[in-house]
Amino acid sequence: MQQAHTGARTGDRIAFDPLVELLTAILVRHGANRHVAGIIARNCAMCERDGCTSHGIFRMAGYVSSLDCGWVDGTAVPVIEDAAPAYCRVDAKNGFAQPALELARKTAVEKARHTGLAAIAIRGSHHLSALWPDVEPFAGDGLIAFSVVNSFRCTVPHGGDSPLFGTNPVAFAVPRQGEEPLVFDMATSAIPNGDVQIAARAGQQLPGGVAVDANGAPTTDPDAVLNGGALLTFGGHKGSALSMMVELLAAGLTGGHFSHEFDWSGHDGAQTPHTGQFVLLIDPQHAGGRPFGDRVETLIKDMRFAGVQRLPADRRYRNRRRAEQQGIHIGVEERARLDALLEG
Ligand code: NDP
Repeated sequence: MQQAHTGARTGDRIAFDPLVELLTAILVRHGANRHVAGIIARNCAMCERDGCTSHGIFRMAGYVSSLDCGWVDGTAVPVIEDAAPAYCRVDAKNGFAQPALELARKTAVEKARHTGLAAIAIRGSHHLSALWPDVEPFAGDGLIAFSVVNSFRCTVPHGGDSPLFGTNPVAFAVPRQGEEPLVFDMATSAIPNGDVQIAARAGQQLPGGVAVDANGAPTTDPDAVLNGGALLTFGGHKGSALSMMVELLAAGLTGGHFSHEFDWSGHDGAQTPHTGQFVLLIDPQHAGGRPFGDRVETLIKDMRFAGVQRLPADRRYRNRRRAEQQGIHIGVEERARLDALLEG
């Protein structure tokens, strides 16, 4: 077994903090300020640590590309508006969504504790990551958190014949008694776009039934999807209805762009969807009946009794614990790509 290393420049394994430092340096090198770079770097390192490789360091090239071509503003200062007792709006000012959420976090938690609910409506934002890092910390603070973000036109609505929706993930986090939060986070497309890119890079085929080519014919070729093809929603009309909900909450409600509305054709290198994000917080302390925490544990116990061995997020937490002991593995090629971004 390899040893964990604490230096960012040694070996195949790197500890969390040095990885964040390395990723921060790359983003600063490409025009983000330290505050923004630090938030995105930490988010990216968390995904890599938890084994969410489609949204870990694999995404650094996309962040850098969008920064380099001026599509996203890595120095944007988001503006928060206290819209109502349980509602805050944030204009991300063409910056990343995560700093905008960070700005709203304290206010939203206070609102949720006071009123029982809090909505955060972020517009003018770019989100290229997994959603669980946005909801899990709220559950760590004892709140139920739900979030949706829309992305870019690449998914055909059920019954339609051309792409309109994004891959549009939904994430949900619930606090647990003495345990890590229960979290799920999933694209409403049959597979996320990152998996298509990873398959294309690895020369692998996609599963059947998840995508069509530029002519609308079913395909398992990731290149055919990336070159004019499109994804399908998971579960046919059901995933499509959820994806529609994501468009309406993350963009329609927040004031952001629908996935099909923004035009990045004039920005060679633009890779971060310019849309919106919606977050809803609920404080279960205000719930009636039996304590919510007990009900969560009862349901999990009953699921276990029904034979369920793996809960959503179990895999991530297992990866996290391993990374905390052994460091985060970074392959030689990935490391070379990061070094090139740091120098380039
Ligand atoms: P998966 O299908 O891999 O997983 C979806 C959820 O189900 C996860 O919470 C996962 O937990 C859980 N899960 C997976 N397999 C099992 C199982 N056998 N038993 C129980 N639970 C299971 O996710 P997707 O491929 O749909 O999405 C991947 C990521 O892509 C998400 O993080 C999403 O936010 C991100 N994304 C981001 C977009 C953006 O625009 N920013 C767009 C689209 C997607 P676990 O995590 O522990 O595996």
